Amino acid sequence: MEQEMGRFDREGAERMDRIAKTAFAPVYPVIAEQILDRCGIRSGRCLDVGSGPGSLGIALAQASDLAVTLLDSSPDMLEIARGNIRTAGLSGRISLLAGDVHDIPLPPDSADLVVSRGSVFFWEDLARAFSEIYRVLAPGGKTYIGGGFGTAELRDAIAATMTKKNPDWKSFRDRNLGPDNRARIAGVLAGLGLPHRFISDDSGFWIVMEKGE
Ligand code: SAM
Repeated sequence: MEQEMGRFDREGAERMDRIAKTAFAPVYPVIAEQILDRCGIRSGRCLDVGSGPGSLGIALAQASDLAVTLLDSSPDMLEIARGNIRTAGLSGRISLLAGDVHDIPLPPDSADLVVSRGSVFFWEDLARAFSEIYRVLAPGGKTYIGGGFGTAELRDAIAATMTKKNPDWKSFRDRNLGPDNRARIAGVLAGLGLPHRFISDDSGFWIVMEKGE
């Protein structure tokens, strides 16, 4: 999907920010509403893993009472996110955290909702990453981790725009969201034995993990 932005240095971060503010812009509020409806968590602490420029975390904060932490391993992404949070007037409710999903710099049970869009495809050790996410999930908490564009209409409109710039874009997208990758992720989660279910529909492919009370 976004492998053309696989390097998240300053240039890659600026490219992601531009796309998030143009072609992808309508997706974030739609996915934010889907997360809030499907998870039923509208307050407490939310962690956005691989937040990039922060568009999903910002949309979630705007649509709920959640206090959001944006976690990303790219300092350039976080720098751009800082500006976006300020512009959105949400500096009081959204904070930044530099770190890697494989070693999340948070104590156990510290997030009521863990979201992530378009980042799981870059994680090198899925078993470790999902174990870390489960560790920081608070009792009663849920995750919404995966990738997608919210609706079939948005997905197709974005594909039309992105393909004009990069003819290979659809094959990037389909490699990330296709059956092989879904099966690979499902295999890792089955091996971990952590409670989870998948949402696989026009909104995308999402992993909902739940930690019992
Ligand atoms: N979630 C944002 C969105 O949907 O607009 C950004 C998606 S961007 C394609 C992927 C993000 O994941 C990048 O910001 C990248 O730095 C981050 N990322 C990749 N591997 C990571 C890791 N191991 N730990 C934390 N963040 C990571």
